Amino acid sequence: MLKRLYAARHLTEAHLIRGHLESCGIAATVRGEALAGGFGELPLDACSVWVDDSQFDDAEAALRALHHGDPFSGASSWICASCGERSEPQFSACWRCGGERPDAGGQTA
Ligand SMILES: [Zn+2]
Repeated sequence: MLKRLYAARHLTEAHLIRGHLESCGIAATVRGEALAGGFGELPLDACSVWVDDSQFDDAEAALRALHHGDPFSGASSWICASCGERSEPQFSACWRCGGERPDAGGQTA
């Protein structure tokens, strides 16, 4: 049975969270896409991320780590080189255009 884990600010955030959960081995579902697509007047905050309740605790922990900046502790928000949009440090891709963070993967320092 699915439980709602997170109410996203917009569809792209929901998909970023789903991607993060899936990279942690947690199956996640984004709901609200039908509302968000094609009907410009409807609120985009209708989308949310759902997980099976058997994985809910794991998903919650993964989400908490994401929001607390771990493993990006101390990171600051960054500006997309493609569209100029500001993204939160926990995201390795631009929420607006999907462009990669300039330093993504380059954890050499
Ligand atoms: Zn962008």
